[in-house]
Amino acid sequence: MLYQRSSQLFVAAEQVIPGGVNSPVRAFRAVGGTPIFMKSAKGAYLTDEDNKQYIDYINSWGPMILGHAHEPVVEAIVAKAKLGTSFGTPTELETKIAELAVSMVPNIDKIRFVNSGTEACMSAVRLARGYTKRDKIVKFSGCYHGHSDSFLIAAGSGAVTFGTPNSPGVTAGTAKDTILARYNDLDNVSEIIGQNQGEIAAIIIEPVAGNMGCIPPKQGFLQGLRNLCDANGILLIFDEVMTGFRLAKGGAQELFGIKADIVCFGKVIGGGLPVGAFAASSEIMNYLAPIGPVYQAGTLSGNPLAMAAGYAMLQAINADSGLFQRLEEKTAYLENGLRKVLSEKGIAYTINRVGSMISVHFDADPVYDFQTAAKGDNESFRKFFHGLLERGVYIAPSAYETWFLCDALTYEDLDDTIKAAAEVAETL
Ligand SMILES: *Cc1c(COP(=O)(O)O)cnc(C)c1O
Repeated sequence: MLYQRSSQLFVAAEQVIPGGVNSPVRAFRAVGGTPIFMKSAKGAYLTDEDNKQYIDYINSWGPMILGHAHEPVVEAIVAKAKLGTSFGTPTELETKIAELAVSMVPNIDKIRFVNSGTEACMSAVRLARGYTKRDKIVKFSGCYHGHSDSFLIAAGSGAVTFGTPNSPGVTAGTAKDTILARYNDLDNVSEIIGQNQGEIAAIIIEPVAGNMGCIPPKQGFLQGLRNLCDANGILLIFDEVMTGFRLAKGGAQELFGIKADIVCFGKVIGGGLPVGAFAASSEIMNYLAPIGPVYQAGTLSGNPLAMAAGYAMLQAINADSGLFQRLEEKTAYLENGLRKVLSEKGIAYTINRVGSMISVHFDADPVYDFQTAAKGDNESFRKFFHGLLERGVYIAPSAYETWFLCDALTYEDLDDTIKAAAEVAETL
């Protein structure tokens, strides 16, 4: 029986872990059913506890850009583990991965490693506030920057969108310093800046949004933000936790030719281990303790195993001059195949894609911000998700999540995926 052992494991997990999961989206609440428990993965494939294999389009939500259990990464972790797993002192490897990251990413001189994307974004905002001596930040509806208080903000009522907490436990005091803007709406950002003259420390954005499906920035939007920031003494923070080392070696900054003041990383940079990082010019980074006044720390930050995995991953990406072209071609092939089968069945859909990030929305109208993303037909998505899952294709269990392709995928995998999508489309 499908998912038999997963179902049993989930019942046991629910007894001792809230909702049976350690991160909410894993619980399948948006699509129904029982989450699948995986036991191993190799290349483009996951194997669940019932020994069913899946072609994986989540790739651990982004990190496994070269495929699961990539040999050089695994070997680096194993070799390091034998030498001791944590010292609480500096290690040479931290400098090596920092040098490599700084050489790959434009506009950064220094980088600090943390343990998650959440930490990276939280620390970047503190640094921006310390540097500008201002309190407020602007974020965009539908962009996700981790689960720290300042980012769990919903649109307030009225024309002026001062944030209100969107989770109990976030105080009104915190929420008032976060202002929500509409993605791809420069006039809206301009208006917000006008209403908060001299008070905004930073604008933080996913340069390609990946947490409301995949939403590309409109032509001129990122440059417009850069100009508004320059004119108003505001720092531009690119949250490249998803896009960093995925859309190009230098991430979205390189792809779009836009300079950010602070850049946040996570996911790919850790090669599948818990790593985040934030980076900027020396001038800004020197505001951090121990040389500057802005405090930021971490017992396991720069952990040897995590750095070994991340370093092996970045080296592999840096050495492979064809990687991003191959990912582009594979994902374009998938996009075209999906378009063909969905169109043939007369299904209302929109597909958004930038490089190896792609999402299918069940709505015929363009999806360019949170509101348009929220219009999608969730019932169709549920059926699409479960239909693909039964056929051994694992996409993210929410219409608000992007699919991530990895280089280990073959054209045969892509053809199998398109064929599965055609069968499922019959049922929509
Ligand atoms: C995943 C993600 C985060 C949070 O990273 P965690 O490692 O889950 O804390 C932040 N920003 C973006 C854009 C992300 O996709």
